[in-house]
Amino acid sequence: MIQPRNKRPVPQSVPIEAAELTLDSVLELLESSGRPYDAEFIRSIYAFSAEKHGDQRRRSGEPYLTHPLHVAWLLAEWGFDQVCVVVGLLHDVIEDTLTTREVIADEFGEEVAELVDGVTKIGQHAYVRRDDAQAETFRKLILASVRDIRVILVKLADRLHNMMTLEHMNSDSQRRIARETLEIYAPIAHRLGMAKVQADLEDLSFFYLRPGRYRELEAKIQQKLKGARSEIQKVDKRLKKELAGAGLEARITFRVKRLYSIYQKLRRQGIEVDQLYDYLAFRIVTEDVKDCYAALGVVHQAWQPLPGRFKDYIAMPKANLYQSLHTTLLAEGGQPFEVQIRTRDMDSIAEEGIAAHWSYKQGKPDKRDENRKMAWLRQVLDWQKEIADPRAFLTALKLDLFPDEVYTFSPGGDVLAFPRGAMPLDFAYRIHTELGHRCSGARVNGKLVSLKTELQTGDRVEILTSNNRSPSRDWLGLVKTSRARSKIRHWLNTEQKKRSGEIGRRLLERAVRKHKVSPKRAFDSDRMRAYLEKEGIANLDDLFSRVGFGKLSPAQVVPRLLSEEELSTQEEKPNKLLSAVSKMLPFGSDAIAVRGDGDMLAYLAKCCKPLPGERIIGYITRGRGVSVHSAECPNVKNLLYDPEREIEVSWARTPNEVYSIQLEIETEDEPGMLARLTDTMTKAGSNIRQISASTREPGKGLIDVIVEVRDQKHFERLSHAIQDLKGVFEVTRRMGS
Ligand code: MN
Repeated sequence: MIQPRNKRPVPQSVPIEAAELTLDSVLELLESSGRPYDAEFIRSIYAFSAEKHGDQRRRSGEPYLTHPLHVAWLLAEWGFDQVCVVVGLLHDVIEDTLTTREVIADEFGEEVAELVDGVTKIGQHAYVRRDDAQAETFRKLILASVRDIRVILVKLADRLHNMMTLEHMNSDSQRRIARETLEIYAPIAHRLGMAKVQADLEDLSFFYLRPGRYRELEAKIQQKLKGARSEIQKVDKRLKKELAGAGLEARITFRVKRLYSIYQKLRRQGIEVDQLYDYLAFRIVTEDVKDCYAALGVVHQAWQPLPGRFKDYIAMPKANLYQSLHTTLLAEGGQPFEVQIRTRDMDSIAEEGIAAHWSYKQGKPDKRDENRKMAWLRQVLDWQKEIADPRAFLTALKLDLFPDEVYTFSPGGDVLAFPRGAMPLDFAYRIHTELGHRCSGARVNGKLVSLKTELQTGDRVEILTSNNRSPSRDWLGLVKTSRARSKIRHWLNTEQKKRSGEIGRRLLERAVRKHKVSPKRAFDSDRMRAYLEKEGIANLDDLFSRVGFGKLSPAQVVPRLLSEEELSTQEEKPNKLLSAVSKMLPFGSDAIAVRGDGDMLAYLAKCCKPLPGERIIGYITRGRGVSVHSAECPNVKNLLYDPEREIEVSWARTPNEVYSIQLEIETEDEPGMLARLTDTMTKAGSNIRQISASTREPGKGLIDVIVEVRDQKHFERLSHAIQDLKGVFEVTRRMGS
């Protein structure tokens, strides 16, 4: 398993390295796999590739054809289908010979031509070291792969064979290619669950990038293994005995952690080789899941488990669908060792990932698993559209090749991947922008949930919409994906601009009418044009939005628009209530509706949260629509220093919603008070959300309570009921800050 000094590592995803590989070796592999294949077709492709590559040679001096043959052989060995094998044979034909895509399409069909073209495109920039170029490479890789994942599989085989023959390149090329392999291709293999291929690519890259460190580590691990040999044999023997004793049929194997993975662990934890315990692990492969847990019970009985080291990836598979039980046990000598327990299916998925599915399903990968694996690729494609700078793109990719993510299902069965922590709104915006804007709730696995619910892997998510629903600023704090955030922000900005323009227009109209001038005439006048030009304001809309945002006040603008005579004319009864705007659309909550004839957006002020039925006052904010306060709210007096911005509002309907209000109740400090209070509130039909009691001064108690009420009437009834209680001095509703 471990190679002598100065030899590059032997890939474990390649069981035998054939020195004299022939096409027959490839055909034999296909034959023994039991998958359908057409030997004549493959032979004709091989002949075509041989003819096109002619007497081209690799740097090693071998005929070029040995490379595509090896790539095809790897693909057959990994269990992929005939098309993959064929594309492996042809993959360098467009790149390195004069053959065009059209010729391949004519000879072998559109499917093969498309895939060969895809692999070619990935390869075109692959050897350029600069970050942007790598990003470019990778973008093409992703683009191609979205149409057919087999492009990536062929590319991985190509890369592995190139890494296996890297000794013939000069050392600059070696380092460049090794780095790209480590940063781009190994993580892709990881995401596709191809653990062996990933480790092979990593170890080969490590060998070329840090040769000294590689050899040192290799020697140390070998020494360590030698020292542990008798202990390993003891554990192995006992493991077999215990499992057999429990009547469990299981295959027990033993593996040493791969060198690059050890190297990373040492660096991450800042430890030395002699402090490394889990470089080796026993693997128990059982018949079924039930036996996995039974085997776990057996080993936990036989050895003492190390606390905090048990992980159940069977119940919670990793993002790349890896499943296994992990536990660490203490051997007699006090040496910890790891045990991994899984079924045969899980084992092959753990080792081969996507390839395992390919071979099981006899060339026809399961649609759903396939979708799942594609999900992350699609996600990458999504970001790529949003990030213009290739450098930023590559950074984002590198960060995101390892994060935790969740896979969810749409009602149609599509699989969508999200970063962990994503909420229903992220889901809605992923599907369609409008669906996001109109999202009023969500059903997860058939159950109604709040928009603050984190999505979990396996969730079936259905988005509920409402036509009078629109995004609110709060949503920005609820979403996890940049897509949702930017869509919401964009909507809010557009809406705010629109709204402030509208508010500004109304404010100016009202100010002009006060002087008995028609707004239409005033706005379309020479005076107006002169004013705009003088002030450098582009047009009327610009003026309106400046007024709406409060950058200009009507009192500043109107004198410039009207003549002396008009200015001296005043409406006898300047009645702002008459001209008031009002129909207010709900803003922030479906349940709020305020009567009127305009279409300005209104929202309930956070400081006092007025109750339906309560006397309210509207205040035109600078750019955020109309805030609606309780007439009793202490903040209103401060706001109304600018009386032009006051506006009449009233309740349009009593919605079916409950509101939380905060009450301060001063009482006699006597036993049973709290019980009587809660009893009264419950009888009045109010839910108590929170209650706390304290003593303010001797003999006086203070009770703070948050209760739910439906509207002002309900609130008054509740408040009277409390006031009527014996021992209650005073009830105050708290508002303001
Ligand atoms: Mn190649």
